[in-house]
Amino acid sequence: MAADMHRNKELEQDDKLYLWHPFTQMKDWLENDQLIIEDGHGVYVRDIYGREYLDGISSLWVTVHGHARPEINEAISRQVGKISHSTLLGLSNVPATRLARRLVEITPPGLNKVFYSDSGSTAVEIALKMAYQYWQLSGRSDKTRFITFRNAYHGDTIGSVSVGGIDLFHATYRPLLFPTLQTESAYCYRCALGQTYPDCRMACLDQLEKTLEERHAEVAALLVEPLVQAAAGMLVSPPGYLTRIRELCTRYDVLMIADEVAVGFGRTGKMFACEHEGIRPDLMSLAKGITGGYLPLAATITTDRVFEAFLGEHEEFKTFFHGHTYTGNPVACAAALANLDIFAQDRTLENLQPKIRWLAEALRRFIELPHVGDVRQCGFMVGIELVASRETKEPYPTAKRMGHQVILKAREMGMIIRPLTDVIVLMPPLSTSIEELGRMVDIAYEAIRVVTDE
Ligand SMILES: *Cc1c(COP(=O)(O)O)cnc(C)c1O
Repeated sequence: MAADMHRNKELEQDDKLYLWHPFTQMKDWLENDQLIIEDGHGVYVRDIYGREYLDGISSLWVTVHGHARPEINEAISRQVGKISHSTLLGLSNVPATRLARRLVEITPPGLNKVFYSDSGSTAVEIALKMAYQYWQLSGRSDKTRFITFRNAYHGDTIGSVSVGGIDLFHATYRPLLFPTLQTESAYCYRCALGQTYPDCRMACLDQLEKTLEERHAEVAALLVEPLVQAAAGMLVSPPGYLTRIRELCTRYDVLMIADEVAVGFGRTGKMFACEHEGIRPDLMSLAKGITGGYLPLAATITTDRVFEAFLGEHEEFKTFFHGHTYTGNPVACAAALANLDIFAQDRTLENLQPKIRWLAEALRRFIELPHVGDVRQCGFMVGIELVASRETKEPYPTAKRMGHQVILKAREMGMIIRPLTDVIVLMPPLSTSIEELGRMVDIAYEAIRVVTDE
């Protein structure tokens, strides 16, 4: 025990001495006590002192079937016993091949070719480069631009930041980024056009239509987060929105890139968000839940039409000159295969439906809290937007860090969550039981009530 205390203190010191945490003001980090996670099982994680917490955000939106699922752990060990790395450059490997077939089988019809990488950001970059080069190779070298949405988030590399639309994260880098044609997003609670759904008839998409009408000749592709702009604060778009985007892309011969990094693998209640409206994108980016949250892996999946444009003789240089050292890593692919097996074995999506309905019901009482402005839910993705005034929708002053205060209170009560500014996010693993879900919702409610009451 004494040895443990020594180890724990050393870990805490070393974290502060040697680590730089992502999306974190390190001054604040260094001044406060921090949590170090040691292990996890199911929907729980445990810190180095043995304290247990509910994992209310699926680690970072990745955990699907819970932590330390024996089937995934074993699949990883089995693959490590065979080989841990074998490149896809000039060679192939067994799990990468098997997984590619499975992904083609489960993604929307028409998506037939899988290109691997290792994060959501790279999966988006690859989609951008593929779409751009597709038109270059198709004799339409004028089609070079991308249409993006305000409030979009597609990752943190320079290319994926270029197509992002969250000023807080992206504005600093503007001079480094390529310009895009940005269109209005469906943030219905704070509609930029001052309209109300459904009377608006999705007027925000009229702006998109106008842009396409005028500039489609120079547009390579449109990027969209289907159903939910997640990092922006779980902004759920209305029914029919995605359908109209697909129609516009088709009409103006613009490739549609669906970034399903956050919404894919069951999050919205279907395997992929595009399925809710029977949408067939031209390219789809996948990451986060692909391995159930066990190892980094990503995939960009596209159509035969796009793939075939790249076919040619060696000396024609139509090759897609892109690849990462860990592309198609066999251990990560083995984890992803095990993750998909559990979807079938546990009937995850079927069992999820009553839990989604239960969650919707349980969230109704949040709107009674005087500082809750909006409650948004799509499947197992929830955003609860806190406001200083419900009447005027005025946000809290940034310095108050209300979202942060709420998650610290929730932590005291035994749950880990992470806010998006003043939007409290709940992203339970899909395996969460109704009873566990109830505890998560109760803690979130109490934490919000106590903090906003002060
Ligand atoms: C998280 C996310 C990304 C970036 O994924 P990383 O693995 O963090 O690079 C891209 N797009 C969406 C929609 C995301 O939610």
